[in-house]
Amino acid sequence: MSGVKYARSEMLYEGKAKRLYATDDPEVVLVEYKDSFTAFNGEKRAEMSGKGRLNNLISSRIFEYLAKNDVPLHFIERVDELRQLAVRVRILPLEVVVRNITTGSIVKRLGAEEGRRLPRPLLELYYKDDALGDPIVTEDHALIFGWASEEDLSEIKGITLRVNGLLKDLFAPLGVVLVDFKLEFGRDSRGALLLADEISPDTCRFWDSSTGDRLDKDRFRKDLGDVLGAYEEIWRRLSGRDG
Ligand code: UDP
Repeated sequence: MSGVKYARSEMLYEGKAKRLYATDDPEVVLVEYKDSFTAFNGEKRAEMSGKGRLNNLISSRIFEYLAKNDVPLHFIERVDELRQLAVRVRILPLEVVVRNITTGSIVKRLGAEEGRRLPRPLLELYYKDDALGDPIVTEDHALIFGWASEEDLSEIKGITLRVNGLLKDLFAPLGVVLVDFKLEFGRDSRGALLLADEISPDTCRFWDSSTGDRLDKDRFRKDLGDVLGAYEEIWRRLSGRDG
């Protein structure tokens, strides 16, 4: 354990899926996962008891695996079923999406054929702004508006493509296809760039490799039913538990 104390700490921020609390170490925050689902820029919402626990367990397990593979992370350790400790960072206002297979917004935006395996991973940037609906942007937008430097973008691309490879390797033997996912990055007090936020069925698309079943937030977005069952299934496979 890191020895950081976090009892009765002040809430710093509440987002759609997590709350952040201060700890007695100014460089460390406590991240608490909520039971809320949101989609379509917050227009669709629901509470599902047990969702926060599953995302915390899944995200922590994935971060532990990435840490072993030397990916620079804000994640420190999982504290309990709902909470993890993380390095305090300032989040860059960019969402970094990688697509291996076409689905979701790229099908709507470009009329791409659904479910097409791309010849190589496609990396996209979105400007994080709820009021604008997180518009897609180019690297030039990020540079010119000062959201990231050339060096940041090159580090972000390198880390993101490495994470894509690592996640594919993690999930393929579990019978899960990594279709696409979103990452966020932050900077710690010394200016180091760290992979932040979460990696979970809220932020990734996971398809069962034999049945094609959706094992992610698309079950909520598209009303496919048994949303928590899909998250539970991802956790069951990741944790190596049977039944
Ligand atoms: N994604 C996310 N947060 C967002 C937007 C997208 O985590 O605000 C994830 C989403 O779960 C998927 C990938 O990024 O794994 C690509 O999403 P897409 O652009 O297809 O958007 P969507 O269809 O979710 O609107």
